[in-house]
Amino acid sequence: METNNEEPEALAAIALRRIARDESIKAYVQKDRLLHQVLLRAARRFIGGETLVECVETAKAMNAEGFAVTIDYMGESTRDEEAAREATKEFLEVVREVWVWGLNSSVSLDLSHVGLVVDRELAFENATLLARAAWEAGLEVMISAEGSERTVDVLETHRRLCEDHDNVGITLQAYLYRTPQDLREALDRPGRIRLVKGAYEEPRRLAWPRGARVDVAYRKIAEELLASGHACSISTHDSYLLERAHGYVSVNDLALEPIEFEMLKGVEPDRLRTMRDRGYRTRTYLPYGEEWYLYLCHRLAEYPPNIYQAVYDSVGFDGLNPAAESNL
Ligand SMILES: Cc1cc2nc3c(=O)[nH]c(=O)nc-3n(C[C@H](O)[C@H](O)[C@H](O)COP(=O)(O)OP(=O)(O)OC[C@H]3O[C@@H](n4cnc5c(N)ncnc54)[C@H](O)[C@@H]3O)c2cc1C
Repeated sequence: METNNEEPEALAAIALRRIARDESIKAYVQKDRLLHQVLLRAARRFIGGETLVECVETAKAMNAEGFAVTIDYMGESTRDEEAAREATKEFLEVVREVWVWGLNSSVSLDLSHVGLVVDRELAFENATLLARAAWEAGLEVMISAEGSERTVDVLETHRRLCEDHDNVGITLQAYLYRTPQDLREALDRPGRIRLVKGAYEEPRRLAWPRGARVDVAYRKIAEELLASGHACSISTHDSYLLERAHGYVSVNDLALEPIEFEMLKGVEPDRLRTMRDRGYRTRTYLPYGEEWYLYLCHRLAEYPPNIYQAVYDSVGFDGLNPAAESNL
C-alpha cells in the first residue's frame, strides 16, 4: 500500500480498509448477535435498509423531499454463476418495485455482483437482462466503477451494452490517469456519465493518491463533462468542487437539464439540499441488503471522524444513561 500522507487520519483510513477486508473480523461480527445489531445501527445512517421493502420506504421519503434516488443491492464480488444469477433476479425485483411504486429512482450495480469475476459473458448477459427490464420500465441503470484490475472489463461491458441500450450509465474515477481518455470514449455513447473521485487503494503508477492532485483532476474532468451537455452526475461531497461546478455552470450559462448532483445517503445531506435549492436535479445513492458491513467500513475509512458518529448512532440516544450524560 502506498501513501504520501502519514497524517493520523490517513493511517486510520488505511487501518479501516484493512479491517474491512479481513474475513475473520467480518465472520466474528456476523456471529456475534449483539455486535451485529450495534453495528447495524451505525450502518443505517448510510443504507436504505436491510431489505428491499425497507429501502422502498426510504426511497419514498427521499422522493418526497425532492431527491431522486438510485437503489443498489449491495453485494461483494460474486464468485459463482448461480449467485450471480440470484443477484440479477434481485436487481430485476428492484426494477419491478421502482416501477410499481412509481419511484423516482434508477438502479446502480457493480458488474462483479452479477458475474464479471466469474465470466465476462455472464456479466454481460445478466446486465443485458437488467438493462432491458429497466428500459421497459423507463429507468436508468448506472454501472459502478470497481478496482483498476476490472476497469477494462467494466468499460468494455458498458460499450457493448450501449450498442442496444440508451439507458445504461457508467461511473468514471477521477483519480485514474486513464480517465480523461475514457471520458472521451464514454461521451460518444448514450447513458449518463457519473464522475467520482475513486474509492479504492490504487498503485501510484495508475492513479493519483487522495488529495490535491485528485481534486485538480476531478475539476478538469467535471468541466469537460459539464461543457459537453451529455447527461452527467457530479458525484462528490467536496464543497470546493461543488462550488466550482456550480460556478462553471452559471458562468457558461449551461442548461441544467442534463446535469445531476449525486451523493451518498448519510453523507453531507445539507450540501445536496443546497444544490436542490439552486434548481439542480439531485440524487441520493441508496444501497440496501445484508452485506452492509463492508459498506460501513468503507464509509468510515473514507472519513475517519465518522467513527465518532458511528459510536453515537450505535449507542443511540435511548441507550445513553441520562445520569452519565449529565456528567459529560
Ligand atoms: C453517488 C456516488 C457514487 C459512487 N460510486 C463510486 C464508484 O462506483 N466507484 C468508486 O470507486 N467510488 C464511488 N464513489 C465514492 C467516491 O469515489 C469517493 O470515495 C467518495 O465520494 C468520497 O469522495 P468525495 O468526492 O466526497 O471527496 P472527499 O475529499 O473524500 O470528501 C470531501 C468532503 O465530503 C465529506 N465526506 C466525504 N466522505 C464522507 C463520509 N464517508 N462521511 C462523512 N463525510 C464525508 C467530508 O466533509 C469531506 O471533507 C461514489 C460516490 C458517490 C457520491
